[in-house]
Amino acid sequence: MLRRDPAVSNTTAKPRTVRCPQCGQPALYSPENRWRPFCSERCKLIDIGAWAAGDYRIEGQDEPLSDETGNPGDSPGGRGA
Ligand SMILES: [Zn+2]
Repeated sequence: MLRRDPAVSNTTAKPRTVRCPQCGQPALYSPENRWRPFCSERCKLIDIGAWAAGDYRIEGQDEPLSDETGNPGDSPGGRGA
């Protein structure tokens, strides 16, 4: 008779883990882990600390002043010989 391996069909019973956004370690994603999706309190505090320190400023705010927006009156072929 055909019999499935219980170890294969029982994947839903496994604890779910996610990747810690801070350190990349597998973090338990369940009510037991109050720091989820982080792996530990430390990683969560680091992430919040980075925010509080103003590390989240938007890049590309200061654009360099460019004069190359096209110079009028400099079209080629205007001068005769
Ligand atoms: Zn972590």
